[in-house]
Amino acid sequence: KLEITDVVKSYGSKCVLDDIDLHVSHGEFCTLVGPSGCGKSTLLRLILGQEQSDQGSILVEGQPVGFPDPYRGIVFQKYSLFPHLSVLDNVLLGKHLTHQRWWMPWRRQSDWKEEAMSLLERVRLAEAAEKYPHELSGGMQQRAAIAQALIMKHPILLMDEPFGALDPDTREDLQIFLLDIWEKEQLTIFFVTHDLEEACFLGSRLLVLSQYYTDDRGNGPSVNRGGKIVADHSLKNSAG
Ligand code: ATP
Ligand code: MG
Repeated sequence: KLEITDVVKSYGSKCVLDDIDLHVSHGEFCTLVGPSGCGKSTLLRLILGQEQSDQGSILVEGQPVGFPDPYRGIVFQKYSLFPHLSVLDNVLLGKHLTHQRWWMPWRRQSDWKEEAMSLLERVRLAEAAEKYPHELSGGMQQRAAIAQALIMKHPILLMDEPFGALDPDTREDLQIFLLDIWEKEQLTIFFVTHDLEEACFLGSRLLVLSQYYTDDRGNGPSVNRGGKIVADHSLKNSAG
C-alpha cells in the first residue's frame, strides 16, 4: 500500500513534481506513462527514499519512507546487475544491501542462498545461477534483476522502463512473464514506461504524468509547471 499526499519536488528553482496525490492499494498493477523529463523517475526515487520531497508525505504500508534509504529494490532498464558477479551473487547482493551489513555468519549466508535460489526458480533462472550477466540474454538479465529486486522485499515492485532495451519478442515474453508472477504472487507493481501500449496491456490501472495541464479554474494548458497526474484510469486487466 502506497499513500502519496501533496508531494512537491523541485531541483533548484525548477519544479519537477507538483502536488502529487496518489493512493495505490495492495495488488494493483499501476503503470505510469508520460513524456521524457516529466518526473517519472524522480517519483520512483521519492518512493524508494533515494530522494526527499520538499513537501508532502509518502507512506509505504503506513510508514513514512525513510531517507536516505538507497537500497530497496527497483528494476531499471539496464545496469541493475553487477557484471563481475554471478546471477546468484547479484541476487544475494540485493539481500546484503537491504541489511546494510557486509559480514554475515555462515548459517545466515546459507539461509540467504536458499532464499536466493528459490527466487531464481520463481523467475525461471535456477539453471543460470552460476552464470555471469554477459552470458545471459537481455530478457534473462531482466528476470535476474526482478529476482534481485524481489529479495529486497520492498512492498511494491518498482520498475523504471524495465523492458525498454529489449527487442520486441523478448519484450512480449517478459510482459507475459511479469503478468504471470503479478497474478500468482499477488504483487503490487508500479511500472514506468514510455510505451502507452505496454502500459495498457500490463496495467490494472493507468496513470498519466504530464507537465501540461489545466489549472483548477479550467485555464491552461500551461507550460513549465511541475509534473502532475493528469489521468488515472482503471483498466480491464484489474481481474488480477
Ligand atoms: P525520462 O522519460 O526521460 O526517463 P523522467 O520522466 O523519468 O524522464 P526525470 O528523470 O524524473 O524524468 O526528470 C525530471 C526532471 O528533473 C528533468 O527535467 C530532469 O532534468 C530533472 N532532474 C532529474 N534529476 C535531477 C537532479 N538530480 N538534479 C537536477 N535536475 C534533475
Ligand atoms: Mg526516467
